[in-house]
Amino acid sequence: MSSDLRDLYQETILDHGKRPRNFCELAAANRKAEGYNPLCGDRETVFLELEGDLVRDISFQGAGCAISTASASMMTESLKGKSRPEAEALFQRFHDLITGGSSAPADAPPLGKLEVFSGVREYPVRIKCATLPWHTMRSALNGAGQTVSTESGAEASPKDEPSAGPVPPVAC
Ligand code: ZN
Repeated sequence: MSSDLRDLYQETILDHGKRPRNFCELAAANRKAEGYNPLCGDRETVFLELEGDLVRDISFQGAGCAISTASASMMTESLKGKSRPEAEALFQRFHDLITGGSSAPADAPPLGKLEVFSGVREYPVRIKCATLPWHTMRSALNGAGQTVSTESGAEASPKDEPSAGPVPPVAC
């Protein structure tokens, strides 16, 4: 990675990690899902206002590390106004970016600013932090309504306290 991209990566992720966008509980949400990454302690709830096949609005709340918070923040900015197939395709493209895969359809929307997360590939332990909000969003989109855990077999239980403490709900 060039030093310019590294600087951009750090700046953008620090900014969104400190001042997350769409960090609130969406009153009009008709879908929501919770995600949990036991390896890091990240917990996030994603709220979706779905109108037919359109993501009319999206927000999130939770407590996690800078990477998971920044990833969720930038995800909400990227998905607002997208259709369900576009959101799904963008999920694949983001996943490919982070894991070095190639499963996204050719007509997937461009990643834009989300490209800064390519740097996460250099930190394998952070990959699940970055993908947690996306898996959670997908669960909300599909209406599964279960807590998504990055570790299968490690069920999120009420005993597990989030590392950064509970976050009081804030309405959008
Ligand atoms: Zn994390």
